Amino acid sequence: MQIARTIAEYRAHRAALLAARAVEGRPGLVGVVPTMGYLHEGHRSLMRCARADCAIVATTIFVNPTQFGPNEDFTRYPRDEARDFAICEAEGVDIVFAPRVEEMYPAGAETTVSVGRLSTVLEGAARPGHFDGVATVVTKLFSIAQADRGYFGQKDAQQLMVIRRLAEDLRIPTEVVGCPIIREPDGLALSSRNVYLSPEEREQALSLSRGLRAAEAAWQDGVRDADSLRRRVLDEIEAQPLANVDYVSLANQGTLDELRGAVGAPALLSLAVRFGATRLIDNILLTP
Ligand code: AMP
Repeated sequence: MQIARTIAEYRAHRAALLAARAVEGRPGLVGVVPTMGYLHEGHRSLMRCARADCAIVATTIFVNPTQFGPNEDFTRYPRDEARDFAICEAEGVDIVFAPRVEEMYPAGAETTVSVGRLSTVLEGAARPGHFDGVATVVTKLFSIAQADRGYFGQKDAQQLMVIRRLAEDLRIPTEVVGCPIIREPDGLALSSRNVYLSPEEREQALSLSRGLRAAEAAWQDGVRDADSLRRRVLDEIEAQPLANVDYVSLANQGTLDELRGAVGAPALLSLAVRFGATRLIDNILLTP
């Protein structure tokens, strides 16, 4: 496994591996898995998807300052590079691109990418500027990685939509692949931020997946009223004294327009809940 700190190093490793692995004159696919590190099973599942598809797998590890708000956890975001490299190696990653901030944001940088309406609702409304930071860094990473495919988790469902939109709009030749949410056996969606939770908070955080599952069960029983479905989720979470709900949304899966009245599939049921300073998100897709 090669570790690249600079764009030039990454490009050199990519070119050398492509040349070495070209099969019968056909170029192999390159897959990229962008992450902020502190890797867990969710990230590993993306690496495995990429490994199954692609001759060359690159993972990027970069805690992107521009997607954190001024009062968010950028400086205390968990980091463990040595452990991350070992995980990448174990998953058969070929190149890890782990740049410093100056490599991604050269002195005097002024260009940002902003993905219209999709990035203004839900997470975008709760975290102003967040998706501009995400869109800007992912555009840079796509431009650097020169990958055929980029792998992203459905855990961050709105982020995945924003990235699909930007790749389409900017005519970026990287296919965006979405991969399923990986959960703990008790249902908690894996997140690097789960380490912040106290034992009590972690216990109460199980209400997120429980609420989503309760709504899904109601959906499968034929409940179609948007408020009733949102209510199923809220009932579970609001019963937890340490939980503060940012939003519970049931929205059109293509536009993220909030749904009223009778819901037609597919719809995205998503939520953000704070436990102390820790903000958790989760979602489930309601399909026919
Ligand atoms: P992050 O390091 O949190 O920025 O996440 C990097 C990528 O891993 C994103 O595409 C996330 O959606 C994805 N990811 C994070 N947690 C999970 C999870 N529990 N299951 C699947 N993918 C995940």
